[in-house]
Amino acid sequence: MRDERKRTSRPHVSHHSAFDSFNNSEFDFISRIKQRAEEARARKPDGLVHGIGDDAAVLTGRGGRDSVITADLLVEDIDFRRTSLPSNIGYKALAVSLSDIAAMGARPRWTLLSLGLPQDIWDTPFAAQLYEGFLSAAREFGVTLIGGDMSRTPERIVLDSIVIGETVRGRAVLRSGARAGDHIFVTGTLGAAAAGLRLLERADRLRTRAARTRLLSGLEELTRRQTQPTPRVECGALLGERRLASAMIDLSDGLSSDLAHLCERSGVGALIEASRIPVAPPLKQADAVNPGHFTRALKDDALNLALHGGEDFELLFTVRPRDAARLPKRLGGVRLTRLGEVRDASEGIKLTRDGRAEILQPSGFDHFKHPR
Ligand code: ADP
Ligand code: MG
Repeated sequence: MRDERKRTSRPHVSHHSAFDSFNNSEFDFISRIKQRAEEARARKPDGLVHGIGDDAAVLTGRGGRDSVITADLLVEDIDFRRTSLPSNIGYKALAVSLSDIAAMGARPRWTLLSLGLPQDIWDTPFAAQLYEGFLSAAREFGVTLIGGDMSRTPERIVLDSIVIGETVRGRAVLRSGARAGDHIFVTGTLGAAAAGLRLLERADRLRTRAARTRLLSGLEELTRRQTQPTPRVECGALLGERRLASAMIDLSDGLSSDLAHLCERSGVGALIEASRIPVAPPLKQADAVNPGHFTRALKDDALNLALHGGEDFELLFTVRPRDAARLPKRLGGVRLTRLGEVRDASEGIKLTRDGRAEILQPSGFDHFKHPR
């Protein structure tokens, strides 16, 4: 290979890079970008504590603090529908990034929002209402909007929210800190957001407003958890500040997938107990409220939605055995539930159900997954 790098001292650009090969999933692609980004730099830049691969990047800040930064892209018809309330779309755009900051054990401070809008939307109050939702989440969670960018798109709405948070230096909680023997915990309850999404999708296909109301009545808590998720901002920050969590991730793709991400980054396995999984009460009760309709709309049982359904934006974290006694039952206004234990990598990731252990396949969300 000719070494153009030495001759021209320009960064080497290979046209036959690792990117040429088939991308099996979003996550394979990200790990290759991570590898290429590291190869492309001369040395680790000053101030970079952690780059690609966690819920957010960590940079050395001033005054004994670190900065934590995350970006999230939301695309119309992929991540949300235009039929949602614009204020809910704005609220959720910030909530998902706040959740990544919480998953680092950090406190969110600043945000930037970029928008791509088609002309027909530009001519309506949509954008103003979207900002109202975004700013109401900003006020609720104590962050300040400091910038962004705008452009026109041919058809679909696109949002990119960036949040910057901070921690005491060295306190950011990574996905990679879990060790065999640590206890595994989750905040809040699971499955409601995925159930809410399935209900809303089914409602979208119904022709009359009366039919939609009939389907959704009594199930508002499920749809609210899909359209206005609550990021566990205070709980995440306290887990970091009190050094309670050894590793953490937020549940955006689904418990089975996000547990696999945490285990992979930590080089460990896990054993969780099905009966301990905190299935969202409205999900368990919904069949009683609206029998038949509900089961048909969901096409899945409550435990499966809690295991594999995405977008609950709860926090999944691990705790060293010696710190488990310091962990309260509730933290930052949310209940903590112990799911199981971190195991050796050789044991894989398993779920015990009725006393029998089975392999827990990561079956949550992936934007580009091909069937294997
Ligand atoms: P999350 O679900 O927590 O937002 P993602 O799976 O989106 O996490 O991202 C995981 C990691 O990969 C993060 O560190 C993120 O910054 C990085 N990442 C995702 N997409 C890209 C991209 N296109 N280029 C560079 N880094 C990316
Ligand atoms: Mg995340």
